[in-house]
Amino acid sequence: MNVHDSEKLLGVLATLGYQPTEDEGEAHLIMLNTCAVREKAEHKVYSELGRIRKQKGKGTLIGVCGCVAQKEGRRLLERVPFVDFVLGPRSIYSLPQVLKELKKGRRVAKTELNGSCITSLVTPVLRRNPYRAYVTVMEGCDNFCTYCIVPYTRGREVSRPSREIVEEVKRLADKGYREVTLLGQNVNSYGKGLDERIDFPGLLEKVHGVEGLSWIRFITSHPKDFSFRLVKTIASLPKVCEYIHLPAQAGSNRILERMGRKYTREEYLEKVAMIREYIPSAAITSDFIVGFPGERDDDFQLTLDLLEEVRYQGVFAFRYSVRPSTKAALWEDNVPLSVKRERLSHLLKLQEDITHEVSASYKGKTLEVLFHQWKDGKLEGRSRDNKIVTALGPKKHLGTITQVKIEHTKMYELIGTIIEGGDAP
Ligand code: SAH
Ligand code: SF4
Repeated sequence: MNVHDSEKLLGVLATLGYQPTEDEGEAHLIMLNTCAVREKAEHKVYSELGRIRKQKGKGTLIGVCGCVAQKEGRRLLERVPFVDFVLGPRSIYSLPQVLKELKKGRRVAKTELNGSCITSLVTPVLRRNPYRAYVTVMEGCDNFCTYCIVPYTRGREVSRPSREIVEEVKRLADKGYREVTLLGQNVNSYGKGLDERIDFPGLLEKVHGVEGLSWIRFITSHPKDFSFRLVKTIASLPKVCEYIHLPAQAGSNRILERMGRKYTREEYLEKVAMIREYIPSAAITSDFIVGFPGERDDDFQLTLDLLEEVRYQGVFAFRYSVRPSTKAALWEDNVPLSVKRERLSHLLKLQEDITHEVSASYKGKTLEVLFHQWKDGKLEGRSRDNKIVTALGPKKHLGTITQVKIEHTKMYELIGTIIEGGDAP
């Protein structure tokens, strides 16, 4: 989501005549797009600001956008005197106005949060890759998981009308894009509050109808809203890829309840079983938090058991980090840092073994791959189930769905050879 926000910021800046540069020293404007989901990410912003301070003498404008900007607002301007402006994630399109105000010598903090969807068809977006594109389907989040700052920094959940999404995807397909990833904090609750009667499976069906588009992905799914209808829809639509990111966060019902996730371990496992039954080739990945307040050894053991039981293709795991405004911030952060560290490395070690085994099982298989990058004779792409696949081959395979036979496997990379003549239309 942050990557796509940066593409939107670059798009707005392009309409104002700015061009991106790799050389920070020659920049007239430097913006940091920030993340506030964990404290560490927030600290990084201040160290990064310290680093770019030296560019300031030459009159360069410095702005902070994203969730730290939203969270801190004017306070950030007070705390860091050389920052010229602060722009929240729902204020991206106020950037031209902000730059105008700066010219009058005023420092600006723009952090309006709610209201309707800001992404629209007139939204300028400067996408970095010509074959795969992110498309916003909703903004904000209404779930208020007790540990999470996102509802406070990205505001209330609002869906984008389906005809706009479909129109954007059509335009992308006409430009040669082959894959779209539909983006939202909880795509499974798509459609709430819209005038039209539509849900996420309905949206997938509409996007599926776009000619020229090959693959559709989506992130993120909240398990509580992951329905049977969605599973059947994914299974029945050939363009929808067999990759499902289904964050569990914890394996113990006691902790899930305290996290406010609104599902039990058993319900989660039922969803996994349903996916495996109807979409047998689906890759499932997850997010986990370790050391949530009150997490005991037996709770953590249940998380490890869940990993063993599901055998994810991969997981992202984090040490719990207290976030201001959240409900959990009122509880004692009572799992010592050393225990959090130990649990995280234990979890990652276990998952490493599983990922290794899962990756190794690809040896000898033939996969459909969309190559989106080529460098020095090496193609890189993703399979339908989102594995990174590389192969030696000519540039002509870029942007085509190519058949690749997997010869070697590494933990996060499958290395294959191209089956010539095996390209899909
Ligand atoms: N909407 C998505 C992702 C939200 S943030 C979802 O519900 O899955 C991405 C991940 O950051 C979360 O899945 C969670 O694992 C992690 N995260 C969020 N808040 C956190 C916190 N306070 N401490 C540690 N990890 C956190
Ligand atoms: Fe945060 Fe929960 Fe919303 Fe995901 S669903 S963004 S974890 S509040």
